[in-house]
Amino acid sequence: MALQLYNTLTRSIVPFEPLFPDHRDADGKQVVGLYCCGPTVYDYGHIGNFRTFVFADLVRRYLEFRGYSVQHVMNITDVEDKIIRKVRETGLPLLEFTAKYTDLFLQDLDSLSCLRPKELPRATNYIGQIIALIEKLVARGIAYKTSDGSVYFSIEKYQGCGCKYGQLVNLNFEAMRVGERVANDEYDKESLADFALWKARVPEDGPVFWPSPWGEGRPGWHIECSAMSMAILGPSFDLHLGGEDLAFPHHEDEIAQSEGAGVQVPGRPFVKHWMHGAHLLVEGKKMSKSLGNFFTVRDLVAKGYTGREVRFLLLSAAYRETFNFTLAGLDGARTALARLDECIGKLQEIAGSTQATAPAAGLVDRFTQAMDDDLNVSSAWAAVFEWVREQNRLLAAGQMTPALAAAELAAWKHVNTVFGISAAAAPEAPAEIVALAEARVAAKKAKDFARADAIRNELKALGWAVEDTAKGPKLKRL
Ligand SMILES: [Zn+2]
Repeated sequence: MALQLYNTLTRSIVPFEPLFPDHRDADGKQVVGLYCCGPTVYDYGHIGNFRTFVFADLVRRYLEFRGYSVQHVMNITDVEDKIIRKVRETGLPLLEFTAKYTDLFLQDLDSLSCLRPKELPRATNYIGQIIALIEKLVARGIAYKTSDGSVYFSIEKYQGCGCKYGQLVNLNFEAMRVGERVANDEYDKESLADFALWKARVPEDGPVFWPSPWGEGRPGWHIECSAMSMAILGPSFDLHLGGEDLAFPHHEDEIAQSEGAGVQVPGRPFVKHWMHGAHLLVEGKKMSKSLGNFFTVRDLVAKGYTGREVRFLLLSAAYRETFNFTLAGLDGARTALARLDECIGKLQEIAGSTQATAPAAGLVDRFTQAMDDDLNVSSAWAAVFEWVREQNRLLAAGQMTPALAAAELAAWKHVNTVFGISAAAAPEAPAEIVALAEARVAAKKAKDFARADAIRNELKALGWAVEDTAKGPKLKRL
């Protein structure tokens, strides 16, 4: 089976085929352009935001697993209504303020083992391209200037050119309040309004403004993504990702701006394949600070969880399903990962320095089959844990050979290029625990088994297990 993905544009699961099959990189791999709407850097990202970024990381990794060369782009929105408000409150220069939150965002991305996107364009570095795109829309009569020096996108004019507004979502034009105008970047989902492309400078913007053919001002949020994605990936590209809350109006507006500018080869869309990650609930409810279920990655780390456990939990449910993220789920992630780590540890012990000639087929085949089905991660994880059970059975029966262990480990390594579950950090035993373990070895050598057992129990009470392996005793946290 070939890779099949749900496309929001066609509302169906379709085979994934690159838009430009002849576009290959230096290694001969087909090149795929992928754009995912990135963060607005004015605060720490919450776990709901990171569900989307982990999802984008999964898509990129799986396309790479399938042999594509992925040009992964994620924008950093560093000028926007909320940022300007914060800049005013803190008194910090815009770039200083946004650099801080950009760094924190990237640290969180690293702690969740997300591969860094290959390009992280910042909106303020693309003002020229944004203005050029708005000029095209003005020249085609689709955008218009208002008396205050702002520029708006006209949905009516756009539709008049034979273009369709409402490609990603079904819009009820009759029921919606057509013809209104909004300056806000995020507007009411019930309003079908002309939206701002360029916002004229107002006193509250302080020093945040740029010159333009329409006077001083700053770009709207939607146009930033159109300009940056097309500047880097070209006027038509393969995949555009984001959270489902961005489908309307943000992504719909991106299509309208990009296709309205008429920069594509006739008949070719702005984006071939749209993918949207579903919402995240926390403890069964919509996240909110007042309910106490609003978590950043850092909040979870402060509670003693690791980025590895958070990533595992976020990757345990299919991306199109609303997922209920709970602390109990994180505890479950810890248990599941421990089971996986234990199995891998045993396989590593048996494999020793034996190198695999090729990865064992079973796991890789079952994993690929599951993931080809619109990235069915739950089924892919089921294949992994079935594999763990099978390895444990072989280990218990003494049927695991170094060659087999090496081949199975190679299979897991291959699959894990997609899951990106980092190796477990081996906990460092404190000096007193190491001293006890050494005392136990000495007792055993002296054939004082009662003392050796007593030390084992003492270690257990302190939260450590000692396992005798071919290479000597090994300490493990309980
Ligand atoms: Zn965007």
